[in-house]
Amino acid sequence: MPALRAGDLICGFFELEWSMLDIVTIGAEVLTRAAEPVKDFDQGLKDFIERMFDAMRVGRGIGLAAPQVAVGKRIFVVQVEDDVPRVFVNPELVRTGERIVSLEEGCLSIPGVYADVKRSAEITVQAWNERGRPFTLDADGLLARVVLHELDHLNGVLFVDRLPEAAKAKVLAQYEKRRRY
Ligand SMILES: [Zn+2]
Repeated sequence: MPALRAGDLICGFFELEWSMLDIVTIGAEVLTRAAEPVKDFDQGLKDFIERMFDAMRVGRGIGLAAPQVAVGKRIFVVQVEDDVPRVFVNPELVRTGERIVSLEEGCLSIPGVYADVKRSAEITVQAWNERGRPFTLDADGLLARVVLHELDHLNGVLFVDRLPEAAKAKVLAQYEKRRRY
């Protein structure tokens, strides 16, 4: 039987093999569309989330969204600095502070390039964890930044899409150059 890949997922998380998840890069269709809400909080979801953490750590990222491993579900994981690992399922942004800050961002799906992106400095997000328990989180600093970046992934938006047109073109040209060598 041919091996199932994450992108073949249709009916449930149980069909996934326990192998390293591949991170898809810019150009993949799954990165451009809105992800679907998670309905079942089952063991398959917990296993999938554990594999997302593995893939994030191997890629040396601080956040990873399910569409980045070709699964169009509203899930992302985050671990910044000395903070605890955090899981967000079906997250909703319920507050964005007025203060806007510019911070450098990168993305495991556009490896090797970075750019300053303007976003709200403080946010409140509601979500469920992998056990189906709802929570509300007030975040600022790097955590707020990563959460906003990952939330964008669930809506088919990449950090380069937040840049002025000229800056976006420059970053994408840098990426293309890197990719070819
Ligand atoms: Zn990203």
